[in-house]
Amino acid sequence: MNTIRDINHKNIQNLECSISKSEEIVIVAHTHPDGDALGSTIGMAAYLHNRGKKATIILPDRWPATLEFIFEDFSKENIIIFEDETAKAKELLAKCDLLICQDLNSFSRTEKMQDTLRSIECTKVLIDHHQKPEVQDFDLVFSEIDISSASELVFYILMAMDDINSDAGKLPKAAGRALLTGMTTDTNNFGNSTFPSTFEMAASLIAAGYDRDEIVSHINNEHREERVRLLGRLLDSRLTITDRGVAYMIIDKEVQKEFSVQEGDTEGFVNIPLTVKKVVMSILLKEDEGKYRVSTRSKEGYSARRLNELYFNGGGHERASGGKLPFETASNAEAAAEYIEKVTEKFFADNE
Ligand code: 5GP
Ligand code: MN
Repeated sequence: MNTIRDINHKNIQNLECSISKSEEIVIVAHTHPDGDALGSTIGMAAYLHNRGKKATIILPDRWPATLEFIFEDFSKENIIIFEDETAKAKELLAKCDLLICQDLNSFSRTEKMQDTLRSIECTKVLIDHHQKPEVQDFDLVFSEIDISSASELVFYILMAMDDINSDAGKLPKAAGRALLTGMTTDTNNFGNSTFPSTFEMAASLIAAGYDRDEIVSHINNEHREERVRLLGRLLDSRLTITDRGVAYMIIDKEVQKEFSVQEGDTEGFVNIPLTVKKVVMSILLKEDEGKYRVSTRSKEGYSARRLNELYFNGGGHERASGGKLPFETASNAEAAAEYIEKVTEKFFADNE
């Protein structure tokens, strides 16, 4: 069996042609960028720079400090944060001739940027691994569901390019390292969403000299002390498990202040309750700009995506999904808990 991913050749030719013709390329990913959003966009940008192309990454907002290590051989000057430098970002978007959107299935996932992205006229490419991509908004679509991450998809797209010619050793170092990082964070270090092609990607990069241990150590072992202490508090006194096997934890503004929580600090927390046998769905609520952001993970046979689509105005992957609670909070953790209990009870009753 040939497990190396076969990327549609015609699409590659179209992308190749668009890249060759373009003088100003912009690469975009979703709001609250995670390792895959940042890794996949840096991977693409570093490849384009190596070809002598002008390519800028525009992110809706900033990446967490925990991902700073990714900038070892890629300059932050190639990234504009839309919410910090809106005018500069809009000016660049207005004149770009190629827009590449990665790790998102809809412009709406860029929140504050979405109107600008819809309105500009240029060639628009989508490279994504979520369900239900809004293909009508794009001229060229690379959409794969059975793949670990946008980073893996970008890796195989680059491998199919003429100049790389299936040799991972020909990727610029910043690209290979960023793509390996994005794949590793989206799979929780090979804990979920892995396919034969995922391992082959890792094998190719390791054979080409990339140090996966170094990347994993940066991801796992450089957290702030407050993060671990917050986790202790949450698991000890803020974890509820319902009779249906729904676990939820609420991180309101007060507890964020107490532990001086920063963006990225709570990454991975939502997975921990799933280690309890009876838990089939884990929900983490985090207060953010007057609303609760929802992060959900589920076990095989339970759709975190459906729960988010139905009750949290969100979506994502079948077993890793997110959204927001549909009401404003005034640090009202009780109302949030009540809502979670009500909708999960209904969700499970309806699916009996
Ligand atoms: P996380 O729980 O790590 O923040 O997000 C997990 C996955 O849920 C993401 O990869 C993304 O696919 C999806 N997701 C998170 N937040 C939202 C949201 O607000 N809307 C939609 N449609 N998907 C989301
Ligand atoms: Mn992703």
